[in-house]
Amino acid sequence: MDPSVAWFQQKRAEAVIQALEHNRMSGSFLPQADEAPQAVLDMIPPGSSVALGGSMTVVQTGVLQALRQAQGLELIDRFEKDIPPQELTARLRRGLTADVFVSGVNAVTEQGELVFVDASCTRVAPILYGPGKVILLAGANKIVPNLAYAQERIRHFVAPANAKRLGRKTPCAETGQCADCSSPDRICNATVVIHKQAQKERLHLIILGGAWGL
Ligand code: SF4
Repeated sequence: MDPSVAWFQQKRAEAVIQALEHNRMSGSFLPQADEAPQAVLDMIPPGSSVALGGSMTVVQTGVLQALRQAQGLELIDRFEKDIPPQELTARLRRGLTADVFVSGVNAVTEQGELVFVDASCTRVAPILYGPGKVILLAGANKIVPNLAYAQERIRHFVAPANAKRLGRKTPCAETGQCADCSSPDRICNATVVIHKQAQKERLHLIILGGAWGL
């Protein structure tokens, strides 16, 4: 990465971390994303049950692999291949009562707000309530100036690109543009903003140097 880009990402991450603290959350910055797996493991108490939200970043950075290999944790693995539908539903529901929830986020504002888009809300529900500890990962590419930019990022990039990736039958997966559809395959049924947290230690955001996820 060009040093000036790395510098810029660090400066933005530092501003976000300060804003998160103000919002009763916490954050950290890892310039090298290959440090992410160990950083996540270090935050999980031994013996914890750990559930996952749908997240490309969790997979791309090796965090999923590290959780699968970790000793002394109970991983509720929604990413396993060929899980029968009933079992997948059971695992997603268990995410609501896991000790720790690990996921990604779609946009992070410079004011320390976290913005998510979800189709079935199996990701946002445990982030909002349930697990006592929530660890989120976001590439520095997810940082935006404010909520308006976050909405724009989601509607004009995240949702169409994810719809394409997941093979959804939506207008945006054909054209690349949002048509505010009412498709049963619609990927952006809920947009959730976390402004602050009641429990200060509950939510931690790890910001990663580079561009990760969508
Ligand atoms: S509303 Fe429909 S068309 Fe627009 S981004 Fe969401 S899924 Fe795509």
